[in-house]
Amino acid sequence: MQNLWNESEAAAFVGPLEECVYGSRLLGADMGLVLHGGGNTSVKIVEPDIHGDDLEVLYVKGSGWDLATIEAPGFAPLRLEPVRQLAQLPSLSDSEMVNQLRCNLLNASAPTPSVEAILHASLPFPAVQHSHADAVLALTNTATGEARVRELWGDSVVVVPYAMPGFDLARVCAECWADQAHDGTIAMILLNHGVFTFGDTTRVAYDTMIELISQAEAYVEDHGLGGQSPTGPELTDIDPLELAQIRAGLCACSGSPMIMTRHADDQVRDFVSRDDLAEVSQRGNATPDHIIRTKRVPMLGSDFDDYALKYADYFERNADEVAPAGGLQMLDPAPRVALDPRFGMLTMGRRAVDADIAADIYHHTIEVIEASEGLGGFVALPERELFEVEYWELEQAKLKLGGSPPPMAGEIALVTGAASGIGRGCAEALLALGASVIGLDLSKDISTAFGGPAWLGVEGDVTDPASIEATIAAGVDRFGGVDMAVAAAGIFGANAPIAKLDLDEWSRTLRINLDGVTLLLKALHPFLALAPRGGRVVLVGSKNVPAPGKGAAAYSASKAAMTQLGRVAALEWASDGITVNTIHPDGVFDTGLWTETLIAERAAAYGLTPDEYKRRNLLGREITSADIGALVADMCGPIFQTITGAQIPIDGGSDRVI
Ligand code: ZN
Repeated sequence: MQNLWNESEAAAFVGPLEECVYGSRLLGADMGLVLHGGGNTSVKIVEPDIHGDDLEVLYVKGSGWDLATIEAPGFAPLRLEPVRQLAQLPSLSDSEMVNQLRCNLLNASAPTPSVEAILHASLPFPAVQHSHADAVLALTNTATGEARVRELWGDSVVVVPYAMPGFDLARVCAECWADQAHDGTIAMILLNHGVFTFGDTTRVAYDTMIELISQAEAYVEDHGLGGQSPTGPELTDIDPLELAQIRAGLCACSGSPMIMTRHADDQVRDFVSRDDLAEVSQRGNATPDHIIRTKRVPMLGSDFDDYALKYADYFERNADEVAPAGGLQMLDPAPRVALDPRFGMLTMGRRAVDADIAADIYHHTIEVIEASEGLGGFVALPERELFEVEYWELEQAKLKLGGSPPPMAGEIALVTGAASGIGRGCAEALLALGASVIGLDLSKDISTAFGGPAWLGVEGDVTDPASIEATIAAGVDRFGGVDMAVAAAGIFGANAPIAKLDLDEWSRTLRINLDGVTLLLKALHPFLALAPRGGRVVLVGSKNVPAPGKGAAAYSASKAAMTQLGRVAALEWASDGITVNTIHPDGVFDTGLWTETLIAERAAAYGLTPDEYKRRNLLGREITSADIGALVADMCGPIFQTITGAQIPIDGGSDRVI
């Protein structure tokens, strides 16, 4: 484990709170230490209160902040003394704990303090860091965890048996501290949970953290981790349709559209080829707070009904004892991780980012399990303890901080021509509604056309069947299926009267504008038929279909044929629950089709200036790619669920069409 502290970088962080910000980011930067909102840090500072009197203030990580990206406002300032005294109470309910913490804030708009605030207050050091380091978990998550901790660190650490995070843990830690701590105490090891380090400064706490973890890593290596994991056979490609069928099962199981990502890296490959996979993977989480992201255990294979049944049993077994009044409501019973020797690992979530978080966590879980197996066997917490954390309102509140999911969360769209113009406008509007989007374009810029986990840009050619297949395969590997298709790729072609038509140009226009869409629809049909809310197709036609213009024979004919193709698809696919509609835009000038020269040429043909030409519609408004994107996104939403085979003009009103 590398110590990342860099004095010249740290110099930019002045004062103990800023130093804590820097040290927290270092902790958050390494996924071997904490993952996605896990871990917490604090610093105690004497500051003048509103009357100018000295006051001891505890700045502790606020709920909802991630250590990797935390800033000073992410730390909640608390009156130290009254918070420290809370650890003396015989018991404290969660709601009262949160109430007491909020009442002791010095800034009414600060985030709610970490559930471990009382523990941080109790530790008699100015700076404190807490991580869930893989190597420490590997040691403690074994049958002889405590003995191994003592063998490695002797009595220089305080060892704390597992307790429910929050008040219970703070109280148990305070007791263990009173029993075991002395002048030489350097850390506190929480069995099956993680590690606390501390010191006069964040630098000291961080250095100790890295030193301890390095020692734990060396211990794991010395104790025969090597050779525990066989080198599994290469995982073969899986038919994208089979993956999409698995995702359809997932969506049905969870009751909402979901994203599903396949992982077939070396680590996964080795793990799923273990002879004892069915046993070793079903013991439980590496550290309790992972449960809200991965559920307690992964699904083996792809039998969602079986997983859901077992999940309901687990809920029944534990709910009554945890909340006898019957106040708990079962969460959706769908898995978040699936393992199989043939397909590797599938991770799942409401959004692509959630599937990614589950993947990060499970990759580290594999590491902990394999290391613990080298130390005599991975032992997770009993299911009751894990259930309590899964259904703990303060853990579930962390998920709710992200707000309710956007309308298209869990749904996947494929947009052709997405690097620019109308295609780009459509991709942008669908992303804004929470959909995951696969963009296909000839342009090299497609991969970076948008950022974030919900975007996958694939360079390819709509006229090449192999290219379309490859795009669908990549999209299904990444997101699990294709629910919506927007055919926006197209060309205008060279302008020429029929008498002077270049047949090669004619063919090229038809190949891109017509064959490209036909190939796409043919390849996508089985995927669209699996869409959890029904498949949706929007074809980008043209005003030229109802109102053709001179000199644009190839373009007008290709768009007219494509419109007819869409109408036939609407007839053929209605029984599969797929809607197919066409839009007829006119005069969308912020696209690659329209060069300044072409605009000037067409304007001249109508005896207009370029600006008059851009607004030559009844409403006198220019139509933008963003206008088209907004319409197309709505046509993929609930407003259009009862409409298929329709042709919608978006042209500002054209007297030639009306
Ligand atoms: Zn923790």
